[in-house]
Amino acid sequence: MAVTRLAILGATGSIGRQALEVVRAHPDALRVTALSGRSRAAEVARIARDFGVARVATGDADLAALATAPDVDLVLVATPGVAGLVPTLAALEAGKSVALANKEVLVVGGHLVRAAAGGAGERLRPVDSEHSGLWQCLAGERADEVKRVVLTASGGPLRDLPAASLGAVTPEEALRHPTWSMGTKVTLDSATLVNKAYEVIEAHWLYGLPYDRIDVLLHPQSIVHALVEFADGSVKAQLGAPDMRVPIQYALLGERHRPGPGSSLDLAAAGRLDFRALDRGRYPCFGVVLDAARSGAGAVIGVSAADEAAIERFLAGELPFDAIPELLRRGADLGARAVTDAAPPLAAILRADNEIRARLGAPVGVG
Ligand code: NAD
Ligand code: MG
Repeated sequence: MAVTRLAILGATGSIGRQALEVVRAHPDALRVTALSGRSRAAEVARIARDFGVARVATGDADLAALATAPDVDLVLVATPGVAGLVPTLAALEAGKSVALANKEVLVVGGHLVRAAAGGAGERLRPVDSEHSGLWQCLAGERADEVKRVVLTASGGPLRDLPAASLGAVTPEEALRHPTWSMGTKVTLDSATLVNKAYEVIEAHWLYGLPYDRIDVLLHPQSIVHALVEFADGSVKAQLGAPDMRVPIQYALLGERHRPGPGSSLDLAAAGRLDFRALDRGRYPCFGVVLDAARSGAGAVIGVSAADEAAIERFLAGELPFDAIPELLRRGADLGARAVTDAAPPLAAILRADNEIRARLGAPVGVG
């Protein structure tokens, strides 16, 4: 295997650190040549030393410069929020491949990413477990024979709480995810199911599927990650232990199943796999986000900005958990008015995102 030179954006995060474990296991295939971490400068310096990396960015440095450096072949985008959009597009335009963990990139800029890279494949490699699952199920299949795809959802940290108590949920409770250990933004988005709605939007852009052919099923064990139903009724599913190192490695190695640090699945120990339909009444944000996505680019840009604002304010104790859906609705309205173009250019996306975040009360950034 030729050595792939890798830039990791967000190397100190949950995905970033697990990616470093994958790199360590494959010295013949992967070498880190650039990395970033916004905070924890000492940890960034230690990682750079351990992996012999000279190109390092901390704070709010220019991630596009890292992502387009000449000694980079593949960029792992593992920073949360809209901040991932500019470096992703820059990398693709510079001819790099991108392994995409960040969700907002496709949520607000899916049309731009698709224009630059097409759908999932060598140049645009999904890292999220559900989209990795679809990628694996669709390998060797014909797109025109796919009837529908299904993404599974654990239900998040609050799935067993009575709906009436959601108003009093504390950040600590909302951050306690039952099956995955992840960064703050994605864990809180899992509590509201904004995360799963984002994943539906990602699947739309990655696989060119209309929204009415992408379903979501609750599956508390997080073992079946995704399913594909074909026109003849045959269904393929992708299973694995809930361990992000497996899909991270599959993306970084480019659709290879080599031995690595990921856990293997013990179905006898798991005992059972449960599925149930999603109760949309319990997760109002899910519908708000998908209605926005169906209604147009402006509304979904507004929802994304509002969600970043909502999470900042919820963590600061300024916004009750059950007020998040209303803030997202306001974001969708503001976005639809600010951006009327069906396929807005990057500058218009960033401008609307900034304005709506400021309007809805977010301090800058998450993480
Ligand atoms: P995290 O919060 O653990 O780590 C984020 C990393 O990005 C850190 O290195 C941080 O310093 C850096 N960062 C934060 N804000 C930044 C900004 N504004 N600009 C530049 N750098 C910034 O997050 P994570 O859980 O590793 O998730 C990273 C991305 O991957 C998110 O978009 C998330 O939705 C996605 N994702 C994560 C998981 C998971 O299991 N953790 C699974 C699927 C998808
Ligand atoms: Mg996921």
